[in-house]
Amino acid sequence: MDLLDKLRPIGDQLAALGHGATPFDTTIEHASTPCEVTIDGRPVLMCGSNNYFGLSHHPEVIAAAAAALAAYGTGTTGSRAANGTLALHDQLEREFAAYYGKRHALVFTTGYQANLGLIAGLCGSGDTVLVDFESHASIYDGARLSGAQVFGFRHNSADDLRRKLSRLAEPRRSLVVVEGLYSINGDLAPLAELTAVCREAGAYLMVDEAHAFGAYGEHSLGAAEAQGVLADVDFIVGTFSKTLAGIGGFSVSDHLALRHLRFTARSYVFTASGSPANMAGVAAALAIVRRDRTLAARLWQNVRHMRSGLARLGYQIGPTESPIVPIHIGADDRTITFWRALLAAGLYVNIVLPPGCKPDACLLRTSYSAAHTPAQLNRALAIFESVGRELSIIETAA
Ligand code: PMP
Repeated sequence: MDLLDKLRPIGDQLAALGHGATPFDTTIEHASTPCEVTIDGRPVLMCGSNNYFGLSHHPEVIAAAAAALAAYGTGTTGSRAANGTLALHDQLEREFAAYYGKRHALVFTTGYQANLGLIAGLCGSGDTVLVDFESHASIYDGARLSGAQVFGFRHNSADDLRRKLSRLAEPRRSLVVVEGLYSINGDLAPLAELTAVCREAGAYLMVDEAHAFGAYGEHSLGAAEAQGVLADVDFIVGTFSKTLAGIGGFSVSDHLALRHLRFTARSYVFTASGSPANMAGVAAALAIVRRDRTLAARLWQNVRHMRSGLARLGYQIGPTESPIVPIHIGADDRTITFWRALLAAGLYVNIVLPPGCKPDACLLRTSYSAAHTPAQLNRALAIFESVGRELSIIETAA
């Protein structure tokens, strides 16, 4: 048995599928707006990003990033713990803490590293991490890296969580981790129930608001704010790579322990800090999120337009109204064929195949932005209609 043998089947599968079969073949050559990109020299409508407010092309964000580039240069060339702490990082941490009304905040280089750092920094041997089964890979990886005992609990089931917590000898040594809005199926965590279960048992709760920040809550703080339980969540984690249109992650908390993670979270200590242009762009994006309530309203209007249009065409979409609209297809070959045909017709969406879903439960993940115009959304629906009928994904009109 050779070390590399396990990777060979991937090569065989790719060869069988041919070029253009995976998202790695669909290189974006240009992005003129948040919703219009160029792939293979052709214009493609983007309905598969996480650019929920369309801030990647906002003139204030671009100007702030350009100014920081001129003021600080391209990179920090080091970690926060060494030479990589700029005034921009400190300021962003103060702004996140103030915006959430929490005492402490930390900024990480990516959202992935924020989850890794939080979970593996807070938990260790003798502790327990309880993870919702549908959690993001970074949550699972943080749990595994921590050396703690790891249990999964049934997706969004407060009862299953209560049962699992009740078996622990020391529930105060446990961390429960969930997402506010789940990234593939676009469903929300029942945070009021989950916070009650954690409080009852004395367990700590961490909520990853990667996809919920922006769209949810009166101040766009996420699902915990929207469900009125922000004060009951011990650690909020988020990312800059979605609504804030940059790269990075953050965590806020009232627990002083969060600040101590600066010394113990390996994904914070041993990696270069976010680049100046990126940090300044995120700070500008955050200022826009704080002041402009029209963005969330426009996003929700677009979501409703697409959900009703897709349902009218006969697509099987997810039940929860959210900026993520999954379209259930079924078998993998049918899903791949449909995904490729949509792209050929000028529409980009995300394809979800095993292990991202159960076999024969393959789906297309579509997501929407405040930046989509009504004309773009209608064009997307027209493509969904013609391609879906041609491939008999939906019924042909009578
Ligand atoms: N958490 C969730 C729920 C995510 O969906 C993602 C990214 N898709 C991350 C964390 C990681 O964020 P980042 O892209 O900033 O590394």
